[in-house]
Amino acid sequence: MRKHIVAGNWKMNNTFNEADDLLNSIMEQLEEKELPRDTQVIVCPPFPFLEMTSDYANDSYFMVGAQNVSDQEKGAYTGEVSAAMLESMEIDYCIVGHSERRAYYGETNKTVAAKVDQLLKHGLKPIVCVGEVLEEREANRQFEVVKQQVEEGLFHLDAEHLQQVVIAYEPVWAIGTGKTATPEQAQEIHHYIRTLLAQKYGDAVANEISILYGGSCKPSNAKELFACPDIDGGLIGGASLKAEDFIGIVTAF
Ligand code: PEP
Repeated sequence: MRKHIVAGNWKMNNTFNEADDLLNSIMEQLEEKELPRDTQVIVCPPFPFLEMTSDYANDSYFMVGAQNVSDQEKGAYTGEVSAAMLESMEIDYCIVGHSERRAYYGETNKTVAAKVDQLLKHGLKPIVCVGEVLEEREANRQFEVVKQQVEEGLFHLDAEHLQQVVIAYEPVWAIGTGKTATPEQAQEIHHYIRTLLAQKYGDAVANEISILYGGSCKPSNAKELFACPDIDGGLIGGASLKAEDFIGIVTAF
């Protein structure tokens, strides 16, 4: 059975003390809940707070993710952080290809593929984001766009490596806009992605890959989204910055 995952992407938010307070509240509230055994909670803070977040990590349900990684192994790349560095800090996951990285920092499907390779080489699990922008949705091009992102970002992998990957479908028009995809819209694309994976790698592999939904997910809509058969959890932006909202989503399965 594939894992249920809720991953919080803090983006470029919080100072050191704010991050510490938020982590304390999240852990306090998590400890009061009894999560189903297949549920995994991931917090992806900015790089400077990875270490403090790691202090809370355990091998069962609470894990740590980075928000970005270099596509290069090491060397003269000022300001970059390598997969080897994340590995040496025992970071478990890393977001790749987030729409903000694609839009503001020129991350392409080719860069995504290179970052995925770096992460897998160093034993981290990539959370690979795909999703169409509003004009593409309005032109009914969402399937074609997502297909290209999945194929060019991931299809160079063999089945064994693909099974280390988590995919996040994030329609860009729903990110930070308060506008959520309906469960039907989200399920349709999640099912499509799983079909693409099945065609390339077979049903057994496709059924093992967790596919998360992202885009204005909150406690009030998480339940109906997570109830869809191909939605295995969420990648959460804004709502991951408030412990109560984040835990409300974690407990929505
Ligand atoms: C995101 O940026 O990955 C995201 C899902 O953001 P939000 O939840 O704020 O829409």
